[in-house]
Amino acid sequence: MKADLHTHSNFSDGVNDPSENVRIAKEIGLKALGITDHDSVLGVVEAIETGEKIGMEIVPGIELSTLHSGQEIHILGYFINYKDKIFLDKLNELQKKRKIRNEMMIAKLNELGIDISMSDVVAKIRRSETNIGRPHIGEVLIDKGVVKTMNQAFKIYLGRHGKAYVNAIRITPEQGIDIIKDAGGVPVIAHPGIYGNDKLVVSLVEYGLEGIEVYHPDHNKNDKCKYQKLANTYKVLATGGSDFHGVRKGETFHSPIGSNSVSYDVVQKLKELSLNS
Ligand code: AMP
Ligand code: FE
Ligand code: FE
Ligand code: ZN
Repeated sequence: MKADLHTHSNFSDGVNDPSENVRIAKEIGLKALGITDHDSVLGVVEAIETGEKIGMEIVPGIELSTLHSGQEIHILGYFINYKDKIFLDKLNELQKKRKIRNEMMIAKLNELGIDISMSDVVAKIRRSETNIGRPHIGEVLIDKGVVKTMNQAFKIYLGRHGKAYVNAIRITPEQGIDIIKDAGGVPVIAHPGIYGNDKLVVSLVEYGLEGIEVYHPDHNKNDKCKYQKLANTYKVLATGGSDFHGVRKGETFHSPIGSNSVSYDVVQKLKELSLNS
């Protein structure tokens, strides 16, 4: 009775249709699957449809991109009301700002002498609603032979210290928490081990987070132990998931569906918290 609470579909920077993630989850025997696309909930509907057909419980989710002092912080939201009009309008605004950021990054790449256009990037998406992200740009850089791997694309160009990096105009983590709560969801900080800023994690828990993503492929044993303790101390949920983005250019990012999954009890607790909010 396990649940993977963190997967991406091709409604954001994942490769698979939501229904493919659901089928994989079924094959490996999970009881529930979270769909947590970046700043989009459009994949949730398709996942639920497939889940009803083949017998897989879907946890409606989102992963909001926020910014704190120049650092990107991801906030997961579970059991959000994904049809809420105000919520969808807010996501629309975030998607518009992301588009501007993407265009600025393309312009920077052009300044560096790299021949890449927005239409090259758009050619990489499999549906018109895809919320385009840096991995799509990275794919083009690999195709054009500018870099060999996605890691290289991020290291040299797209990552925080990359030559074409642009800080998007983004909401703060606190605003992310508020948006999720206003949509009836449960806010959880994603992969805190990546940030190297546990003071911030604690301050966000005090602000209103209701969970910490303890189990994640980027967390080592120490991280998992530390964040499990933190979750216990602050009496918030310990969640986890694979952060699966599919297989792109032969590489699975982050890890296969089912890795870092948690007990189904966590799903029930998330559900209860969402009903109480
Ligand atoms: P964006 O949402 O457009 O700012 O892009 C950030 C996303 O890029 C993250 O959510 C990851 O999915 C992805 N990403 C970051 N680093 C890497 C990497 N080294 N390889 C593949 N994908 C990455
Ligand atoms: Fe991603
Ligand atoms: Fe993330
Ligand atoms: Zn993610």
